[in-house]
Amino acid sequence: MKVKHKKDITLEHNKRPLFGNYSKFHWAHWIIIIASLLLTIGVWQFSERQLEEKIKIKFEKQADYTVSVIKERMSQYEDALWAGIAALLSHDGKMNYQQWKDFSNTLKIDQRHQGINGIGIIHHLTKDTIEQYLQEQRLLRPNFNIIKKGIYDEFLPITFIEPIEKNSAAVGLDMTHEKNRYAAAIKARNTALPQITAPITLIQDKEKTPGFLFFLPFYKDNAPTSLLKRQETFLGLVYAPFIAKNLIVGALGQELDHISIEIYDEDIPFYKTNNTNNTNIVQKDIFKKEYLLNIYGRHWTVKIKANDQFYVSNQNNIPLIILMSAIIIDILIFSVFFLLITSNKRAIYLAEIINKKYKEKFNEAKSIKINLQKKDQFLNLILDTIPNFIFVKDNQFRIVEANNAFINNYPESERSQVIGYTTLEKYPPKEADDFLENDRIALKEGYHETEETITFPNGEKRTLITKKILFNDGEHDFILGISHDVTNMKKAEKEILRSNTELEKFAFLASHDLQEPLRMIKNFTEILQEDYKHIFDSDAHFHMNQIISASARMQELIKALLDHSKIQANEITLKDIDANISLSEALKNLRFTIEETKTKITFDNLPVVYSNNMQLIRIFQNLIQNAIKYRKDNIDPKIHISVIQNEKSFIFSIADNGIGIEEVYLKKIFVLFKRLHNNSAYSGTGIGLSICEKIIKSLGGNIWATSEVKKGSIFYFSIPKKERK
Ligand code: ADP
Repeated sequence: MKVKHKKDITLEHNKRPLFGNYSKFHWAHWIIIIASLLLTIGVWQFSERQLEEKIKIKFEKQADYTVSVIKERMSQYEDALWAGIAALLSHDGKMNYQQWKDFSNTLKIDQRHQGINGIGIIHHLTKDTIEQYLQEQRLLRPNFNIIKKGIYDEFLPITFIEPIEKNSAAVGLDMTHEKNRYAAAIKARNTALPQITAPITLIQDKEKTPGFLFFLPFYKDNAPTSLLKRQETFLGLVYAPFIAKNLIVGALGQELDHISIEIYDEDIPFYKTNNTNNTNIVQKDIFKKEYLLNIYGRHWTVKIKANDQFYVSNQNNIPLIILMSAIIIDILIFSVFFLLITSNKRAIYLAEIINKKYKEKFNEAKSIKINLQKKDQFLNLILDTIPNFIFVKDNQFRIVEANNAFINNYPESERSQVIGYTTLEKYPPKEADDFLENDRIALKEGYHETEETITFPNGEKRTLITKKILFNDGEHDFILGISHDVTNMKKAEKEILRSNTELEKFAFLASHDLQEPLRMIKNFTEILQEDYKHIFDSDAHFHMNQIISASARMQELIKALLDHSKIQANEITLKDIDANISLSEALKNLRFTIEETKTKITFDNLPVVYSNNMQLIRIFQNLIQNAIKYRKDNIDPKIHISVIQNEKSFIFSIADNGIGIEEVYLKKIFVLFKRLHNNSAYSGTGIGLSICEKIIKSLGGNIWATSEVKKGSIFYFSIPKKERK
């Protein structure tokens, strides 16, 4: 029978994971964490810059707005000066104090022109006209006088300035006394355009802060086009004094909380907000802006900076929120990695344990497999060597497995067509039918056993004891067949039986024929002893007595031998026998001995057994007789007869309290003529137990004994139950 070998499975050992050891932080983890940190910083910085950019744009707008407001203011002031010119023209170039006052009231300087200190008229005078001028002015203002007269031939005194309350100090002040005022006035005259002075200190400003004057010239003729004409027809200037601080505050008001402004005329600073205590943030260049303005003949540089307040009011927490969120995400990423690595460590640990166990199991399975293979080989060796025919048939009665002994029953040319075939056609039809019938019984009942004589395909005729056993491989039913070739045994059995019968006939005839001469020896010896007793001396008498007793013993032995040879298994009839009756019959035969020896006999209720009554009586009688014979001297014999049964047999037992038998003799006592004692100690022939064994064997049973020296023996014999026979 062939065993199919599967390919060995090999383990892949020590395979490293693609990304190294996952039980600790791998470089890939670190790269992700660092990249995420860099990204965090990047996003944070980006949002910071975005915010800064936004603030910067806002700042620039604010700065532009600031400058445009200043410009707008200046243009409004210019408008006011033009209004003054218009008023003058409407009075033919001559207005008295009251008229100017009225005019200036209509301007509502305090409300509409915040930052302007006043609006006034400066007249252009020469030495020729100064006196008349003074007289005219003193008509309404007797105390009017020109103050700080210049050193030139012309004078430019302030005639009116309203509101007078805060400008009275300036009334009569000559513009020529000081170069800035004078230069601006001349420039205005020459250009016929509005003109402002360089920074000056207004006479009416008690705080003495920088300020300037805004001039607009008026002429005798309206709009003289040439310089000469302008010089000739120049009558004076409408003017407005400014305190720089008031101008800016008036124009920008609360805007100044957010920005600081520095204003330079050429390079001379004349205005600076005093809120410059700024932090480093707003010191950055992006929060500074510089404007070069051409303001009415002057070059102003306006420097604008953002204040902290501006920065704070435009600042928001978004970058910080972004930073914090990103840091939280980073921490989460780190935690996730950490958790992953921790669980990974555990997973690797478990995997290693499983792997180890798997390897152990694998090695175990491998060694089991090797052992199985060895056993398989050994089994195959046995199957192929054993002389029994072993085969397996499927439920379609096809041979699916068979050993060499079986296959060799076929001629060599047909052996390849045994496995997979029923091969029924190779046998005589009657035998083939019997095979099929036996197979069907085995399939149906699970077991079948038969003795069959088969004519094999190779021509040999053989007697087999065939057992067929049903088994299932998990899917299908199969029949395992095992045939034991008993052809030779049967022949030998027959031969033994024949020679035994002959031997027994011989023993019977021999012992029967021996009886007569033996009887004659004994009788004639007795006659000799009686008739010639006076002739023989005592020695002769002793020897003759020996001959007589030896003859008697020999008679006894021959009789026993005759009994033994008379037991013929074939010739006795078997039937159901009540063993209780057989036993009581045996006890009846032994009643004198029992009484004489005061033997106590007890027994169980015995069954009905399939046997022969005479034989059963003999067995009981022999065994009980022995139990009494081999009693102990000082104790009354006690015998108990009982029976047990198993599936196949009834097992009787005869237990005594006698002398017992040494263990080494327990088997020998059943041999013919075997005795353990001489005749003077215990008389006997050594045939009783042999007769019992012969009878029991002929019934298909068995006999044996157990014993304990000086305590007693138990003799057992079994008789098969009828249905198993
Ligand atoms: P015999 O009794 O005539 O000698 P048996 O064949 O009956 O022959 O017994 C053979 C021997 O077995 C006896 O000689 C005796 O030694 C021994 N024997 C038989 N039965 C008993 C017994 N119940 N107790 C002790 N020994 C026994």
